[in-house]
Amino acid sequence: MSIAPWFDAAAEFERALLERNAPLAELHRQAQLDGAARLRAAGSLRAPSPWQGTTSVSGMRQAIVEAEVYALLREYAAQAAAATDGADSARWTALVDEGLTRSRRGLLVDEVRDSAAGALLLRDSWGLRPVVPNAPVIDCACGYAESGVIAKGLCIECGELVVRRWSAEELRLLALVPEYRARVEEILSTEARQKKQIGVPSDTPISDVASKRARGGRALGRLRRSGRRLLVAGRDLPSERWKQLAALTAKALQIQVGAEGRRAGRRGLGAAGLAALAVKSDDAIHG
Ligand SMILES: [Zn+2]
Repeated sequence: MSIAPWFDAAAEFERALLERNAPLAELHRQAQLDGAARLRAAGSLRAPSPWQGTTSVSGMRQAIVEAEVYALLREYAAQAAAATDGADSARWTALVDEGLTRSRRGLLVDEVRDSAAGALLLRDSWGLRPVVPNAPVIDCACGYAESGVIAKGLCIECGELVVRRWSAEELRLLALVPEYRARVEEILSTEARQKKQIGVPSDTPISDVASKRARGGRALGRLRRSGRRLLVAGRDLPSERWKQLAALTAKALQIQVGAEGRRAGRRGLGAAGLAALAVKSDDAIHG
């Protein structure tokens, strides 16, 4: 079903609201300008190699832009809350719910859900229309991309998309704490080199391989405990979205990738980079 009529109605509601609410319109105008500048910067970023995982450069770049859009819309919502009255907020939430119901609710649609009235026009102004894609973007075998419901686990395509989004969010957060980021990059680069060396030759005992693989994770865990002072600029790190994406990654049917998701809490920032490395090397799938 086309969502164009729904989008037009929802955008019309936002336009009318901004016309009669000058403080909100001012916030909206500023968010639009700031967002355009930040998205230009995000659009030219390339993920460093440990985070690249399976994915194409263009796929990763898209995830980096999505992470920025998500953050921008969350920040806009925090400011807009005080300038929007309850009835208008409720009407907008109802419109968004309707849009998500008409269309797919899966992992392809999560940017506006956590925002506020004006978010649809913001996305539109940044060239990101439509809000909800009509055609499947990925070749999903598990149903999650469309329904948002996880049955047995995430198929390879969904798992990779989730790890890509998780990595992009991690990079966005690490950019706020450059010293911590440098330590994480060091650990991940070592891990990447070791993975190449291990390569699971048949004469290497499995336990040996597993313990070598766990080394990067343990180093991240130590950094998480000892490096708190490096996170001063971002005391709330990791973000809720980072945690949500880690929890989703834990549902991946690729064994090693799912395991990296489950260990994310102990490891903190850098865990998504390890999951991306696991995507590269993991061809074992749960039966
Ligand atoms: Zn899937």
